[in-house]
Amino acid sequence: MEMLLPALASPSSKIALRFPERELSYERLAREARAVAAGLAGARRVAVWARSTPETCVAVVGALLAGVPVVPLNPKIGERELAHVLADSAPDLVVDDELPSGPEVDLPEPDGEAPALIVYTSGTTGPPKGVVLPRRALATNLDALAEAWAWTEDDVVVHGLPLFHVHGLGVGVIGPLRRGGTVRHLGSFSVAKAAEALRDGGTMMFGVPTMYSRIAAEPEHAEAFGGARLLVSGSAALPATVHERIEQLTGQRVVERYGMTETLMNTSVRADGDRRPGTVGVPLDGVRVRVVGSESGDEPGEVEVRGPNLFLEYLNRPDATREAFRDGWFRTGDLAVVEPDGYVRIVGRRATDLIKSGGYKIGAGEIENALLEHPSVAEVAVTGEPDDDLGERVVAWVVAKGEAPPPEALSDHVARLLSPHKRPRVVRYVDALPRNDMGKVLKRELR
Ligand code: ATP
Ligand code: MG
Repeated sequence: MEMLLPALASPSSKIALRFPERELSYERLAREARAVAAGLAGARRVAVWARSTPETCVAVVGALLAGVPVVPLNPKIGERELAHVLADSAPDLVVDDELPSGPEVDLPEPDGEAPALIVYTSGTTGPPKGVVLPRRALATNLDALAEAWAWTEDDVVVHGLPLFHVHGLGVGVIGPLRRGGTVRHLGSFSVAKAAEALRDGGTMMFGVPTMYSRIAAEPEHAEAFGGARLLVSGSAALPATVHERIEQLTGQRVVERYGMTETLMNTSVRADGDRRPGTVGVPLDGVRVRVVGSESGDEPGEVEVRGPNLFLEYLNRPDATREAFRDGWFRTGDLAVVEPDGYVRIVGRRATDLIKSGGYKIGAGEIENALLEHPSVAEVAVTGEPDDDLGERVVAWVVAKGEAPPPEALSDHVARLLSPHKRPRVVRYVDALPRNDMGKVLKRELR
């Protein structure tokens, strides 16, 4: 395979990584990463304690140069999950602040099928699984994103995402480095810090929906976000109401993309495309997407994906790997409908969001979006619950904005906006929704 990180082969003095504590030019990054690569010689697998620091990036790049697969670890991981991840991935080295180093060695480019990263899924629907990603998936997917987003070496990507998922590490760090551009990492996200970085030369921002909700709630920084070339959202559904609020405030429409650990990115709204709220755009170059099992056009089916972006396997889980594929297509577990012009609309997950009620298949996401349009709803998650009569009934878990309206008001609102069979039968008010570090709602905890 061609090189994964060509900008490190003949490095320049351009800034590659900029963190609050220090910045590294490509020259400096190449020097430090090559020393790490030499220190990793002979290692079979390395785990990196993935704090949001430049050292994490140096360690990951060093391992990529050495061809040693990297397991990025969540630095806030709990004891039990850490024990699981370490036993499962069995690294022969864990890199903390102290980076290994060695004398200059030759670093031949590994084969495209060689594992580059082993990233654990977010654990939204069950225990996290180790996803083995080859270099080929990273390289081709980052190039497809570059094509869709007109992403070049002149782009400065601003984000405050954690570095142990494919969003922050794969797209947010290896992405800009593959382009020869710049990563501007905020250390941790705040609206003010993101705005300042965008005023100071940032061109793109990557974020999760909860970050965009915060941006929508702090209008004093609107002009900085309005000046960005591209605001990108992913990792969970961006509520249409947040999309619209950001547009009103900043004049920018957020570009939404849809991806997952196993496939990297599958679809995106293109930079030059129609930025339609509630949709994740069209398949990226080389990626094939199909929606199976829906009986009519507006009924959701499961998204299946095929292409060079796919992972190799789940680590130590041959059965799970086998079950995840159907005739070479990866079954994402996500539910979607496709609009007539090919735009994909994700409506939820098969495991938690497909509610079979009164003979209908209903996607939770559509009801959540409708509820968010109600002025008294701040946050919402919709689930199905067993029901003697209907099979399952629609339940809405709501964080109210101001005084909580009577439940019927919300149920009537959904029935009026969508259709009567989608009406929540139960509305439960809660103080907050359980979310993980990417802001994803943990529906299994709600139940
Ligand atoms: P686990 O597989 O362990 O249950 P997870 O699926 O949340 O956790 P990730 O691989 O980090 O782990 O997340 C991928 C999932 O995130 C997708 O399958 C999809 O459900 C969701 N997702 C990502 N982007 C979007 C988006 N733009 N809109 C809706 N959902 C999205
Ligand atoms: Mg998943």
